[in-house]
Amino acid sequence: MDLVCLDLEGVLVPEVWINVAKATGVDSLSLTTRDIPDYDTLMRHRLGLLDEHNLSLDDIQAVIGEMAPLPGATDFLDWLRRRGPVVILSDTFTQFAAPLMRQLGWPTLFCHQLEVDENSRITDYTLRIKDHKRLAVEAFRALRFTVTAVGDSYNDTTMLTAADKGILFRAPDNVIREFPQFPHVNDYDSLATAIAT
Ligand SMILES: [Mg+2]
Repeated sequence: MDLVCLDLEGVLVPEVWINVAKATGVDSLSLTTRDIPDYDTLMRHRLGLLDEHNLSLDDIQAVIGEMAPLPGATDFLDWLRRRGPVVILSDTFTQFAAPLMRQLGWPTLFCHQLEVDENSRITDYTLRIKDHKRLAVEAFRALRFTVTAVGDSYNDTTMLTAADKGILFRAPDNVIREFPQFPHVNDYDSLATAIAT
């Protein structure tokens, strides 16, 4: 049986932190795993900037509340979910994802958790488990699913490698160049074809 694992940001929804950077004017919040491959280094950098600029979870949720899935994402995901099981594997946080999951029809999402104090200050974050995307794909394969994984960034490459089929979607040139073993596509019709064939 086939199972599809999808990254969230850059594949179904815009990059949350890039939108937060635009809305708050804190430009360096726009760095993502595309720019800094080590996730902990990236998150420490982000939490430091939030403190420096006095930005709370409420501020960030206000930005996310205005965001929508990428054009065509909801239809693509509806098609994919009719076809078989789909699990979204993301390095976002449950507190960020909810408004976007609602718009996507509440698909299954595995992601991380923010720690927030009584003043809505983000104090820390808890990874569900390190390298969870790869571990989830390996676990699904151990359950005898044939897994296709789709992602756009460095933090997806271990799950793409672990999957039976890995596909890059709208990946930047440096990722495409460094991982030539994965096919890359740029629109949902091509992605649907790449998954189905
Ligand atoms: Mg992504």
